[in-house]
Amino acid sequence: MEECIFCKIANHQQKTDIVFENEQIIVFKDMHPQAKVHLLIVPKKHIESINYLEEEDRELINQMIFLAKSLAKKQGIAVKGYRLFFNVGRGGGQIIDHLHLHLMGGGGLSDG
Ligand code: AMP
Ligand code: ZN
Repeated sequence: MEECIFCKIANHQQKTDIVFENEQIIVFKDMHPQAKVHLLIVPKKHIESINYLEEEDRELINQMIFLAKSLAKKQGIAVKGYRLFFNVGRGGGQIIDHLHLHLMGGGGLSDG
């Protein structure tokens, strides 16, 4: 997956603003934020989208959701509320074909 930009970020071959990292997951700021806080929670493993998830990925998705919960708290947006979503395929607005969970909040969302 040499041309995949998120694989490059996960391998530290491409610079970006990293917020959190462990062996399985990397989190960085979206380069075109659509809210005051806009993070991308990305598995280091190349999975194209939710459509390509396999049984063995259950624990990974689990980790991503719980990480989102703790990051929302750390970023100070947990109480007011935030948006957590996956775009899936072109029809779902997915542009980067490497699974990523959007975490958005802190003002600037379309409905508050
Ligand atoms: P999606 O439409 O769900 O595929 O979202 C892809 C997101 O990745 C967009 O919000 C882009 O702004 C963001 N993005 C693309 N390339 C980079 C990058 N190199 N660093 C940070 N964010 C990126
Ligand atoms: Zn990738």
